[in-house]
Amino acid sequence: MSNDIKSMTLQEIQDVIKSAGFEKYRAQQVYEWVYKKKAQHTDDFKNIPLKVREYLEANYDFFLPEILKMQESEIDGTKKLLLQLDEDTKIETVILNDEGRYTACISSQAGCGCGCAFCATGTLGLKRDLTAGEITGQFLRDEIEAGQPLDNVVFMGMGEPLLNTDNVFKAIKILSDPHGRGFSQKRITVSTVGIIPGIDALAEEGFKVNLAVSLITADPAERAKIVPMEKKYPIKDVIKAAKKYAMKAESRLTFEYVLMEGVNDSPEDAEILVELIRGTECRVNLIPYNKVSGKKFASGRREKVLNFQRILKEYRINALIRKEKGADIDAACGQLAAKEGKK
Ligand code: SAH
Ligand code: SF4
Repeated sequence: MSNDIKSMTLQEIQDVIKSAGFEKYRAQQVYEWVYKKKAQHTDDFKNIPLKVREYLEANYDFFLPEILKMQESEIDGTKKLLLQLDEDTKIETVILNDEGRYTACISSQAGCGCGCAFCATGTLGLKRDLTAGEITGQFLRDEIEAGQPLDNVVFMGMGEPLLNTDNVFKAIKILSDPHGRGFSQKRITVSTVGIIPGIDALAEEGFKVNLAVSLITADPAERAKIVPMEKKYPIKDVIKAAKKYAMKAESRLTFEYVLMEGVNDSPEDAEILVELIRGTECRVNLIPYNKVSGKKFASGRREKVLNFQRILKEYRINALIRKEKGADIDAACGQLAAKEGKK
């Protein structure tokens, strides 16, 4: 995979093109074919001389991750793709369609090592990090399948993006490079369980992406029981780092709160949440739990969810309930487990 063209920045392509003895500007043309025109074969690179194309073809891989399976929701058109990355690695990516606006939900790792008790990906354990090219490849696949330019990208598929910062950051730089796809960082959201060094690294890189923190539940002792990372990175410190980043980046800070019946959905739980985030400029996404087979967690009744939201609103906290998408095909973000991968 090391010679996957989609893992390379424009600078890196320029360097290899130059050292192969070709004009440097050919790299820019390659970048446009890959990211703007989504060509998957060097034969398509019409403005590039045959000699350069042959060199590229011999040394680099231009293929997008292969689609093993695609499911489309009959309810709302959400599409879930199972992609084959290599012989033993399959991952999922989801294209959400919200009244003509398309959001790609992208994976950053195959599996995840963080072990959150409620999460389907967590039960797989970490198989491996995805390369930058496997991340940009998902973007291109999703944009092709959407049939129109994507509006948003969220790192809410499989894996913890801030435990694969080398590749995730590189992919963000490639996708947002104006010489290529030029996808605005303001339309990218990185979702994290709360990896503080990763949040700090986002700030150091000078990124503008939005940050979402999977708060899950606001009581640290309860959180530690279902989110093991709480023991390493306590939520209070995570919030401090997240605020600092959002301030510097002038980006949006979201807290994801997955509502689970009897775990974190009582009025008292809402009050604890208010205490924790009061005064923080943020938005709360209330996510009714999606049932994962074999796990004891469940989502509560609709009235309970609405009541939880009402309490937050009383304190003027901007709380949205996430609309359910692709319910008939298990396609909710964060619910991905590549069942085929387990066989
Ligand atoms: N590792 C990152 C990103 C992937 S998970 C993170 O944890 O933030 C993306 C989101 O999906 C997280 O907020 C996670 O809490 C949520 N999620 C995971 N499993 C879920 C489920 N079964 N139902 C609802 N949300 C879930
Ligand atoms: Fe990993 Fe996020 Fe799932 Fe936790 S919720 S196991 S961090 S993917």
